[in-house]
Amino acid sequence: MTTAVAETTEEPAKKRILVIEDEPDIVRGIRDALEFEGFEVQARGTGAEGLSAAMDWAPDCVLLDLMLPDDNGYRVCETLRQRDETVPIIILTAKAQETDKIRGLDAGADDYVTKPFSVAELIARINAIFRRQARMTSHADETFTIGSWTINARKHVMLKGRTNKRLTFYELEVLKLLRERSEETVSRAELLEKVWGIQASPTSRTVDNFIVKLRRKLEEDQKNPRHILTVYGLGYKLVP
Ligand code: CA
Repeated sequence: MTTAVAETTEEPAKKRILVIEDEPDIVRGIRDALEFEGFEVQARGTGAEGLSAAMDWAPDCVLLDLMLPDDNGYRVCETLRQRDETVPIIILTAKAQETDKIRGLDAGADDYVTKPFSVAELIARINAIFRRQARMTSHADETFTIGSWTINARKHVMLKGRTNKRLTFYELEVLKLLRERSEETVSRAELLEKVWGIQASPTSRTVDNFIVKLRRKLEEDQKNPRHILTVYGLGYKLVP
């Protein structure tokens, strides 16, 4: 006679981090630190190999160097984002210019660290992204409406009749924060801090660029938005 044993001693699956970077010393440093933190790591030295690993291995997070031997990192980022709308992408950049960071965020990246960075900082950024994801999952069943759209947070989609549009992780987070504060003005600085965890200059255009993307999806007339309103000099306000 057998008894059912429900007990399992399975370890929780390790989070997978894909590193697309061609400098061996940097790869080694990142790999050692991330493996020590309990992540599973794979590294690729070109954009093409990186893109193919991203498809085959399904990482939980991608670290992407901007200066790759075969391709421009921004283009790799865009391709990655077209194929997977939700995987977090952190750009590793030697370029400290604000415009470069914004260009990276525009290409679909979620965050960036500027070289030379400390691995501690990098790990903090990665963990912050996973914490935000976990927080989002804990409100998984949440749906809400904006205009005639129904937003399903768990499925990352917005629905209207038979139209169905995907929302990326950060687009959804921005919408959720605006919605929590419906009819109130939320400043760019607050959005940056609460959604991205970045303490940045409130003049940064990062938030504005995401608002443009959201309006493109949500508003019937992007030039005359009815739901995501600009409060000049202050920030944004959601009118659901
Ligand atoms: Ca490089």
